[in-house]
Amino acid sequence: MDGNWGLGLFQALLPLLRKGLNGLPQALEAVGRALLAQRAYLFRLEERQGIWYTSQLSEWAGPDTTPQLHNPALQNLPMREAGYGRWLNLFLQDRAVAGPVRSFPEEERPLLEAQNIQSLLVVPIWVEGRLWGFLGVDDCRREREFPAEEEAFLRAVAEVLALAMELWERTQGLGHLLEAAPLYLARLDKEGRLLYANPSLKRAFPQGVSLPVAEALSVPGRPRTFLSQEGQAVEWILLAVPGPGAEVLEVLALGVDVTEREQARARETRWNTFRRNLLRVYETLMAEGLSDSLFGLILEAALDTIPTAQAGSVTVLMEDGCYHFLAAQGYDLEALRQVCLRPEEPLSLTGHKEAQVFTWKDLERFNARLDETRRRVMEEAGRVREIKAILSVPVYLAGERKAFLYLDNFEQEDAFTPLDLELAQAFASQLGVLLRRMELESQIQHLAYHDPLTGLPNRLFFLEKLAQALKEGAEDLAVMCLDLDGLKLVNDLDGHAAGDEVLRVMAARFRAALRPRDLVARQGGDEFLVLLTNLRSPIEAMRVAERLLEVARLPCPVGERTYHLSTSIGIAMGEPGLSPGELLKRADLALYQAKGEGKNRLSFFEPQLQEELKREIGLLEALREDLEQGKGLHLAYQPIVDLSTGQRVALEALLRWRLAPPSVFIPLAERHRLMPELGRWVLRQACQDQALHGLKVHVNVSPQELLDPTYAFRVAEALEATSCPPANLVLEITESTLIPDERGRDASQALWALRELGVGIFLDDFGSGYSSLERLAELPVDGVKLGQAFTQRLGNPPDPQGPAARMVAAVLALAQALGLRAIAEGIEDEAVLAYLKHLGFPFGQGYLLGRPKPL
Ligand code: C2E
Ligand code: MG
Ligand code: MG
Repeated sequence: MDGNWGLGLFQALLPLLRKGLNGLPQALEAVGRALLAQRAYLFRLEERQGIWYTSQLSEWAGPDTTPQLHNPALQNLPMREAGYGRWLNLFLQDRAVAGPVRSFPEEERPLLEAQNIQSLLVVPIWVEGRLWGFLGVDDCRREREFPAEEEAFLRAVAEVLALAMELWERTQGLGHLLEAAPLYLARLDKEGRLLYANPSLKRAFPQGVSLPVAEALSVPGRPRTFLSQEGQAVEWILLAVPGPGAEVLEVLALGVDVTEREQARARETRWNTFRRNLLRVYETLMAEGLSDSLFGLILEAALDTIPTAQAGSVTVLMEDGCYHFLAAQGYDLEALRQVCLRPEEPLSLTGHKEAQVFTWKDLERFNARLDETRRRVMEEAGRVREIKAILSVPVYLAGERKAFLYLDNFEQEDAFTPLDLELAQAFASQLGVLLRRMELESQIQHLAYHDPLTGLPNRLFFLEKLAQALKEGAEDLAVMCLDLDGLKLVNDLDGHAAGDEVLRVMAARFRAALRPRDLVARQGGDEFLVLLTNLRSPIEAMRVAERLLEVARLPCPVGERTYHLSTSIGIAMGEPGLSPGELLKRADLALYQAKGEGKNRLSFFEPQLQEELKREIGLLEALREDLEQGKGLHLAYQPIVDLSTGQRVALEALLRWRLAPPSVFIPLAERHRLMPELGRWVLRQACQDQALHGLKVHVNVSPQELLDPTYAFRVAEALEATSCPPANLVLEITESTLIPDERGRDASQALWALRELGVGIFLDDFGSGYSSLERLAELPVDGVKLGQAFTQRLGNPPDPQGPAARMVAAVLALAQALGLRAIAEGIEDEAVLAYLKHLGFPFGQGYLLGRPKPL
């Protein structure tokens, strides 16, 4: 070598730079020749499980030198274990191994001598801060030391090789890089003046380049790298080439256009920020669970990742079909919450399909389309007039634009780069992921909190909302308990599918009859719950309840049938200090009351009512229990007498339960639908007793029993079971039984069936109700019992001209005309008895004739 290391370096590096690692053999040859060596090689070093292995990768061997590339001893050689720990330690300190082999430690020599090596120079290669391998040359002819410039030269090659490696790893191959990016070569004097520039350098930098030669000069023989960023990014390697003395000859400059790499690096940095910021969002998500505040966190992360975004917001499509602001940075979110952006507005911030940058001009146009109020809020709270550029990204979920991420800049129209757009899209898609998770979560919640049959919230959900509402202010809320009247009948008659359908219809009606912020839930069975908030007075609650009563009464068509149901409603107003459970209990008590009062009505909870109801419920439970166990119940019998002969012709069975008067427990049982069961017991008992006294037996029947379509069948059953002749049974029905209820049902069907059985039917307490005489004529009734109210109003002595006497006479005439039997009830004294006898009244009943007594 003629001392021109620069040229030698070129020769070594050019193949590498041109062909990447494929140029390695050529580069090694240039290195070998430049250093007057017979062999040049590249070894890879790798640490596997704490052991450093080395393998020869590439080699050049001079004309009369044996190549070692296929020497198995040089593959997978464990450095320390094979005796080269010293080498490894030197490499790890970035130092070279150099000199005659004879001067090397004992253990290193055999392997080297076997290759005829007299002297060698080996330098480490570091790639991206890690020991990657080593580059070396062998002199197989003489023992020699290697001067500093030779080592510097080899190191410069190693450095370029490392750079090549790095680039290779980063850009799938240096070849690719070289195709895209030109290679610049220059030689400069010590003052930095260009001595030589290759054509691509001249083309790219017609004005020449200024490179920091002083830095390279401070460490001759050591390559310095330097990145210039004028227009394009160029990575330069500057090497002050040492001459034969210590004097520096010139500075060699080698540049590679790394614009792409630098851009990739910049992108990488931005994406790393993105990942870091996103991670924080997810950490919060893990710690705190899903909530709307995550939109704010994502927005914050986006602003941090995209510094040109100086403010931003997130809108989400809500149930009302509009986009609402859920997060904002740099704006007044509370004010923005009032604004909704409609998706149907085509020229707006919600109209575009892809991520897009809008300028202040677009915004001005959009804003002009908003109505006065929204425009004002957008201008003040949303600072729309100050925004210069807005980067808007739609968030898609199942093909629908579910949300928008807006990032705003107040300075430049072109503030946002394509990379910003990409990053914003990445955040937007994270918003999508979160929205999806929220949706899933809410579906799960929906399952836990909703009634699958009606789709309404369930009791659990209701209780949670109620607890929340109570916390926010107990005074202005009301809770209602609703109970459908008549659902059981639908189920019994037409099966549960019909009942389910009725429930669905009712649920939809209740929902529709309420304001959106009111809550209606299904409590279970045929019961619903309603929560009203922000009430100005209980009257409002009453109006709502009346509306619910009304919609429940509407005919309910299911399949071929149309049902007529109603509902009973109990209402309790909120009070400070009440727990959700207590409030619900109150509404439930009021419901009890409403049902007791005859259904299809509403009832407010009143404190004194609570005690009454508690007593009533206690009584009811006791009655129910006694009935189940057949305890505490018995029948008293009161004779019915033929007034002309004084003979007992029949006995009326009157139910007794412990010490409670029938006027208390009979209505109680009626209110709570216990009457049918109680009646069954009475009927059985009375029929059974009939054999004992042999007289006709009168049994009282409640309207509830007669409305049961199977009642006649039950009677037949009882007659048969007790062998009581049907002709000996007389059923006393009340007038109200004959009046069709609001659903058009009456007992006439049951009466005809009973008549078929041969059972007698009497109208009890006749005159106290208002049965039409016409109805009386067409129904299968055998007789009437004149209510004791009339008997007793006859007076003592009876006044034949008084209204009661006229009524008694009229009833008698009517009965005779229709061929009905007539019994006067409540005969307590002789005068009345005499008067009735005088009138020709056929039958009578009363304390005077016989008190009700057990058999
Ligand atoms: P009701 O069917 O009109 O029965 C006659 C009621 O008048 C009986 O009252 C009886 O004790 C009472 N009474 C009889 N003679 C006189 C009298 O001279 N003066 C006065 N002041 N009262 C007299 P009780 O037993 O208290 O029954 C009241 C009502 O309870 C009955 O009126 C009937 O509607 C109902 N009831 C009683 N037992 C049954 C039953 O087993 N089933 C049904 N559904 N209702 C029953
Ligand atoms: Mg009776
Ligand atoms: Mg009566």
